[in-house]
Amino acid sequence: MGFPQQRPRRTRQSDAWRRLVRETRLTPDALIYPLFVVPGRAVRHPVESMPGICQLSVDEAVQEAKVAAAAGVPAVLLFAAPARKDAQASEARDPRGLASQAIAAIKEACPELLVWADVCLCGATDHGHCGHITSSGVIDNDSSIRTLAEVALNYARAGADAVAPSDMMDGRVGAIRALLDAQGHAATPIVAYAAKYASSFYGPFREAAESAPAFGDRRSYQMDPANAREALHEVLLDLEEGADLVMVKPAGPYLDIIRQVRDAVRVPVVAYQVSGEFSLIKAAAARGWVDERAAILETLTGIRRAGADLIISYFAPEVARWLSA
Ligand SMILES: [Zn+2]
Repeated sequence: MGFPQQRPRRTRQSDAWRRLVRETRLTPDALIYPLFVVPGRAVRHPVESMPGICQLSVDEAVQEAKVAAAAGVPAVLLFAAPARKDAQASEARDPRGLASQAIAAIKEACPELLVWADVCLCGATDHGHCGHITSSGVIDNDSSIRTLAEVALNYARAGADAVAPSDMMDGRVGAIRALLDAQGHAATPIVAYAAKYASSFYGPFREAAESAPAFGDRRSYQMDPANAREALHEVLLDLEEGADLVMVKPAGPYLDIIRQVRDAVRVPVVAYQVSGEFSLIKAAAARGWVDERAAILETLTGIRRAGADLIISYFAPEVARWLSA
């Protein structure tokens, strides 16, 4: 039976009807806000390519975390850009390093706010890659995952509510789980950046996190944008190794991956609306080419509709305020 018996417009004719039959709902409960921490005090250094986003010293990160919590955002994701950078990623391995300080300070000021700590080596290495480099210039997987586990343990000890390895080395989730369990942190969840693509949309982030690789690129560890089956392979491996949540990154250009992952697993699926996705909207809105608020809500709704339970977004506090207004 089709037209004229079927008229789908009947349930679109008023806002009340549209609200009633809406299939996907955005809620502040699903949002996670990324923060970039730098050394110093009272530092709010604007990231030029991300209007409205700043690199923050620990004290300012605490203030920003309070703002996010007050807006109703349940979690922040912490990145550190320390001054000390060397081949060993010493700063990240230091139990009193910048990220650990920030985790402890935010947990003290906002005990109810969940603090997820990004675990990687690129912010603390002088070469800017996510793992250790051998003398022949290749990324050494197995020594890297030992260091990543050490870093994750530091963050768990500092009070992180979850550790989120973003390096894409093989076996790192298992290495982190084993060390956390052996050291009394069996209750700390792992949010695995399971399907992280080698994306052109990370450009602005690298300014914010000071993590641009000094040579080469990340295509030997991050995924080829053309691959979908491989994403499921990565996700299932991370789950076998003990991941509690799995992530797809970026979000917007990978909605099909989010859907396939959602259909394949039972754990929460997280999608990361990355810096380039943020900056494209900001830049177009600044020129009056798109309606900023409508574009933001549409992209986030699309990511949820694709199957993401949770979304990491630089728009999180603003959107949380809109949704609860
Ligand atoms: Zn990295």
